[in-house]
Amino acid sequence: MKSHYRVVVIGGGVVGCSVLYHLAKLGWTDVALVERKVLTSGSSWHAAGIVHALNSDPNIAALQAYTIKLLREIQAESGQDVGLHMTGGVNVASAPERWEWLQAAYRIFQTMGIDTARLVTRDEIKAMHPLLDVSDVLGGLFDLNEGHVDTYGTTYAYAGAARKRGAAIIEQARVLELHRTPDGWDVVTEKGTIGCEHVVNCGGLWAKQVGLMAGIDLPVTPMEHHYLVTETIPEIAARTTELPLIVDLEGFTYTRQEGKGLLVGLYERNYKHWRMEGAPWDFGIELNQEDIDRIAPELEIGFRRFPALQKVGIKKWVNGSFTFTPDGNPLVGPAPGIRNYWTACGVMAGFLQGGGVGLSLAEMMIHGEPSTDIYGMDIARYGGWAANREYLRQTTGQFYSRRFVMSYPNEQLWAGRPLRTAPAYDAMTANGMRWGVLWGLEIPLYVSPSPDFVERPTLKRSNAHDIVGKECRAVREGIGLLDTSAFSRYAVTGPRAERWLDRLFASRLPAPGRCALAPMLAPSGRLRGDLTVFNWGDGTWWIMGSYYLRQWHGRWFQDHLEDGVDVRDISDDWVGFSVSGPRARDLLAAVVHNVDVSNEAFRFMRCRELDIGMSRAKVGRLTVAGELGYEINVPAAEHLTLYRTLRKAGADFGMVEYGFNAMLSLRIEKSFGLWNREFTQAYTPGETGLDRWIAYDKRDFVGRDKAHEERDKGARRRLVTLEVDAGDADPSSWEPVWRGSTRAGYITSGAYGHTIGKSIGMALIDCEHAAVGTELTTHVVGIERRAKIIAPSPYDPSGARMRH
Ligand SMILES: Cc1cc2nc3c(=O)[nH]c(=O)nc-3n(C[C@H](O)[C@H](O)[C@H](O)COP(=O)(O)OP(=O)(O)OC[C@H]3O[C@@H](n4cnc5c(N)ncnc54)[C@H](O)[C@@H]3O)c2cc1C
Repeated sequence: MKSHYRVVVIGGGVVGCSVLYHLAKLGWTDVALVERKVLTSGSSWHAAGIVHALNSDPNIAALQAYTIKLLREIQAESGQDVGLHMTGGVNVASAPERWEWLQAAYRIFQTMGIDTARLVTRDEIKAMHPLLDVSDVLGGLFDLNEGHVDTYGTTYAYAGAARKRGAAIIEQARVLELHRTPDGWDVVTEKGTIGCEHVVNCGGLWAKQVGLMAGIDLPVTPMEHHYLVTETIPEIAARTTELPLIVDLEGFTYTRQEGKGLLVGLYERNYKHWRMEGAPWDFGIELNQEDIDRIAPELEIGFRRFPALQKVGIKKWVNGSFTFTPDGNPLVGPAPGIRNYWTACGVMAGFLQGGGVGLSLAEMMIHGEPSTDIYGMDIARYGGWAANREYLRQTTGQFYSRRFVMSYPNEQLWAGRPLRTAPAYDAMTANGMRWGVLWGLEIPLYVSPSPDFVERPTLKRSNAHDIVGKECRAVREGIGLLDTSAFSRYAVTGPRAERWLDRLFASRLPAPGRCALAPMLAPSGRLRGDLTVFNWGDGTWWIMGSYYLRQWHGRWFQDHLEDGVDVRDISDDWVGFSVSGPRARDLLAAVVHNVDVSNEAFRFMRCRELDIGMSRAKVGRLTVAGELGYEINVPAAEHLTLYRTLRKAGADFGMVEYGFNAMLSLRIEKSFGLWNREFTQAYTPGETGLDRWIAYDKRDFVGRDKAHEERDKGARRRLVTLEVDAGDADPSSWEPVWRGSTRAGYITSGAYGHTIGKSIGMALIDCEHAAVGTELTTHVVGIERRAKIIAPSPYDPSGARMRH
């Protein structure tokens, strides 16, 4: 053991070993892993070891596919057998909606280039797995690239391969304390103190405590989880080939062959947390007592699905624990506000995700950003609020109990809600507003026509379709009122504020009294934000974006902060409403006390202070709806007053309230992109059309060299707008787009354009197939549909309505 390393990784489970391996592989070889006991002493020793690529987040699915590919590499590199059994696996569907979902998932696999997957019939499933009762099975999704590994072997293979690249592993050395030093950390262990620049928390079941050592309370908790292993089953003993994995989604069970018997794991609805404050320090290679009464309902379904189980004994019960976050995805990245403290924890499925987690964290530490869009597992997708015990208890419980339950894009789940509400929430609810949730904040979806209206969860158009359509038409024809509390707002001040903004954003900054769309790039030239900058003309600047990206953007701002600049996140202090539609100016004129707000006096993309009712508001003339419109910002304490003022005045103009569902339809009619759909950290300005806003002649901005490189070379693919011959469902995202049998690209988002009466998709398409008029096809909820590339902005292509 040396006295100093560049990085100390705390925790020798599969995740810590993968992080160590990837750091060494990417060039940081002065690294050490410190383990409390011996490697695999947490969850890792007793996992079922199942690996598969299917995940509802395609970016995470891609990292799972990477992990599976890596297994053979680390085996070869380390000489340690990982016990790989690539049996293939089938997700079976026994409900029509699930079968629909699997058919859609299959197409998304095609987008990702996972060509080992195919849909299979009931008979094919029976032939693959004769022990399965398929009487109610409708079909399945088979992937050749699924199987299971030996959990010790895999962990030791990562460790062995890391060692060969120069990394050190120090066992029997529990980390007791962490202390800040000028250049990093002192890691106090049972074997002495180690100095280092960076610490990585891979503490697994103890991640909570290892976080608290540095002052961060992580939104992570262990929960109990069961599987059983049977005695020999004669039908299996008689086989010469190994059975595939079976995930019975309606049955809450997953199964694989173990020896000559079966291993059956369950996700029970009656979940149980285990040691929410983290495992005890003296917890060894131990299991919890099995709790058969609690899991009996799911066990019964499992026994019906595999009748052979009713005739054999159970050789082994495993009731272990592993960690969960509110959405079940890992927490990867730098801990907010704590320099050089990184996390790779909350990894629910370390054997199928560990490789991707290790790679992404190593890239973030060494290159400053991951090579793909890993927002779905970035620690910045949560704020400190998510670690609240009750929030964590509810959300992790909901996630666990719904692990195998169908989720629908229009479904609103209950856990952890309502946590944050804008001040006008109660008044808006009384007027019929229905709510969704974003980063803990209730966001308006649509106004329900009656208190009894229940929206049915579906993958297709829902029974709220016409309600949303009515709201869209009201905005286009009159005025719509939208709560904009779910926009983020940052105030930037200080003597060097303008210079700082000019370097951070790739676009030209707006002149005083103006606002401008402002793309932000990473040094790699990939996108880092699609924000709007306001120059209020008094030395104060605002940056506006999406509320749920507050921590993620905030981290970027802090990482690039300079002396003489003050950036404050004021998203909870300032909220607002937008008014959009041809009569929006009439409404504004009625509430501003004789101020001239004519088009000549207050033009498109200008911003100014205005007295609105009793509020001194900050107003921008812009709107996501693509109409004449204004975004009105007020201090949070005046939100309700502003609501009342606008509603009262709006009554004379037939104003309607609308929600984000209508906004998503209105914006797609204008081909306006959205972050996390059309724009992500994996895409570039040239691909997405954000290059239109780049000021290439600026002398200096983050990502300038790469932006120029892309402009000179040209992008490989382009964002286009599609008209889709859609039937009863609209495109959503990640569906493949075909030109004949060639995969030309994929959908980034879609919606029904209620005012143009067409289903619209946006898609990233390889340039040779991206010309307007090109006839293509796509798969919407698994069904092939015709699609045609149309010119952008099918509604009001010249933008005249926003400008006049
Ligand atoms: C019953 C069961 C079945 C499962 N099945 C699967 C499956 O089929 N597929 C799959 O992918 N996953 C499965 N999992 C989940 C999988 O086990 C975990 O995702 C994985 O083990 C997490 O690995 P980790 O490295 O993050 O944490 P852990 O394995 O918990 O490792 C953390 C390590 O950190 C060490 N540590 C903690 N604090 C300190 C400290 N202060 N100082 C030094 N060392 C410290 C601990 O001793 C431990 O070795 C299953 C889990 C269970 C319980």
